[in-house]
Amino acid sequence: MSVFFEPWQTPFGAPPFGEMTVGAFAPAFERALAAHRAELAAITAEPAPPSFENTILALERAGRDLERVSHVFEQYASTLSEPSVATIERDLAPVLARHVADMRADPALFARVDAVYADPASAHLDRVQRRLIDRHHLEFVRAGARLDADGRARLKAIGQRLAECFTQFRQNLQTDEDRPALVLTDATALAGLPPDLRDAAAAEADARGLPGSWVIANTRSSVEPFLQFSTRRDLRQRVFEVWTQRGDHGSTDNKPLIREILALRRTRARLLGFETFAAFKLADTMAGAVEAADGLLRRIWPPALARAREEAATLEALLGDEGAHHPLEAWDWRYAAEKLRRRRYALDDAEVKPYFQLDRMIAAAFDVAHRLFGLTFHPRADVPAWHPEVRIWEVRDADGRHRGLFYGDYFARPGKRSGAWMTHLRSQERLTGDVAPQIVNVCNFLKGGSGRPALLSLTDARTLFHEFGHGLHGLLSDVTYPSQAGTRVAQDFVELPSQIYEHWLLRPEVLRGFARHVDTGEPIPEALIDRILAARHFNQGFATVEFCASALVDMAYHTATNPDDLDPSRFEAETLAALDMPPEIVMRHRSPHFAHIFSGDDYAAGYYSYLWSEVLDADGFDAFLEAGDVFDPTTAARLRRFIYAAGDTADPAELYRRFRGRDPGVDPLLAGRGLLTTASRA
Ligand SMILES: [Zn+2]
Repeated sequence: MSVFFEPWQTPFGAPPFGEMTVGAFAPAFERALAAHRAELAAITAEPAPPSFENTILALERAGRDLERVSHVFEQYASTLSEPSVATIERDLAPVLARHVADMRADPALFARVDAVYADPASAHLDRVQRRLIDRHHLEFVRAGARLDADGRARLKAIGQRLAECFTQFRQNLQTDEDRPALVLTDATALAGLPPDLRDAAAAEADARGLPGSWVIANTRSSVEPFLQFSTRRDLRQRVFEVWTQRGDHGSTDNKPLIREILALRRTRARLLGFETFAAFKLADTMAGAVEAADGLLRRIWPPALARAREEAATLEALLGDEGAHHPLEAWDWRYAAEKLRRRRYALDDAEVKPYFQLDRMIAAAFDVAHRLFGLTFHPRADVPAWHPEVRIWEVRDADGRHRGLFYGDYFARPGKRSGAWMTHLRSQERLTGDVAPQIVNVCNFLKGGSGRPALLSLTDARTLFHEFGHGLHGLLSDVTYPSQAGTRVAQDFVELPSQIYEHWLLRPEVLRGFARHVDTGEPIPEALIDRILAARHFNQGFATVEFCASALVDMAYHTATNPDDLDPSRFEAETLAALDMPPEIVMRHRSPHFAHIFSGDDYAAGYYSYLWSEVLDADGFDAFLEAGDVFDPTTAARLRRFIYAAGDTADPAELYRRFRGRDPGVDPLLAGRGLLTTASRA
């Protein structure tokens, strides 16, 4: 008997991680998939006519074992990866993909969903139920359920070929990123690099069997600091060129794949009744249409461009002051900006970090949730975890009732995927009982050396608040139907709960209480808070142009009506020229390595969505400023009810209006980036 299919006799029915072995996963998946197939077959075999209960709710109830096994396995695959887990994961991915595709392509199942969708009797259902039917129906339709057998076969072939192209794109990119950007054998070539970067370059060389030399890896985390600190302009240029030409040449040239991917996507969109892939993609977002997403980008572009030009002039003047008589080039920007940042704000990570102790920042995130929503957090040592470093809290509501479990897995370790994310072991719902959520945050912070407390950079602290904001979206979820719970919302809405939470981190009300010196316990000096706040808008012209250029090119590719004869190099150059892109700035992701949009469908015609959510979080946080209190109870109650608790129970634009009393405006985003008036200096 597998532990996955027995009731879990643990506090709150949490997964009994200690009793699980890696070897148990493959048979457990097999059994769970078979169970789901049987449940789906029972829905189609139902003799009674299709109804909300016997079709939609039956679909909602189906697949529970599969979810249970998947969510536990996800922790192993992402945070405890070892060869045996990676093998299971690789073997499993196509099986799970085929399982979903087969379900969506089942004509008998779709016929029942379609009948419920069209049934006048479903008019008596409430709006949440109606939305649930529409969502299930739409998932089938967007997967091609309305097409005839020939159309479905073409769609399937397109899907298979796209998957191959995505893999090839990713592998070409990986090959280029695995080649070093720079190998240095002479210590003078390290001029300007701080000690930790020199150490990292030496360690990289050792790992590649080149002891005694230094390697700058061709990855963002190595290249950007090198461009920021190296005083060797010739080497900055070399690193920059290698970095920005990933996937652009030779045997790893991704451009033919780009053309094929764009053509396949357009064919698929047209089969499904849309003129372009972007039109297909945007139809299922909060933005709703290409014009809305593109319009936002074009509203942000001119002030960002103007600010970037001012920044370029300032940086060029600074280089001139230091005796460099050459124009500012793309490989000079980060270097000059770092000099200016130090000169203008005297901000140094080494001065800031001692005030941002991990444990106190966790306490700060919890305290904000307490002041906004009344939540309290109680450590639980008796709940099993997948690793001894994982910390677990029981979350209680203002009335003391159990709200859910919160797991924090904060430290980097071998075998753990890089980055930070939120996920769940169980999501909230009331369809199969009063099910409380079990929410996970995973980060990759560095431990403190020799038993010292872990310290965070400002970026790390922002990440902690960001992921905790996603976590609250799961914890505060208050819905009936599983597929509407928590973060299962439109892609351009899902970053609102996380991004808005970041706003509380840098509030003096929060910093004064929790940003205390690791050794002395003294609160952070007001003058340092002022310098941190003053530096917020620094270099935002550059950052916004770099990001928006990628988003605009993404949208241009996916609205193009001639993808078959499109030359990516020329298309990219012409699109940027039409935008008046400054020559000193390169797109954050150039086409041949734009993995967001070419190694999968998720962010294709969707790179804008980060900025879309930023419009909402900037405008949304302003509601607290207008109320004169960043913990204003009335505003917090609306934020909880309509944003954090509502899941996908209503249209996101409507939810936002109910929270804010009106539609969002773009000005708070521009103000947040210091771009509202280009005359005012950051
Ligand atoms: Zn996020």
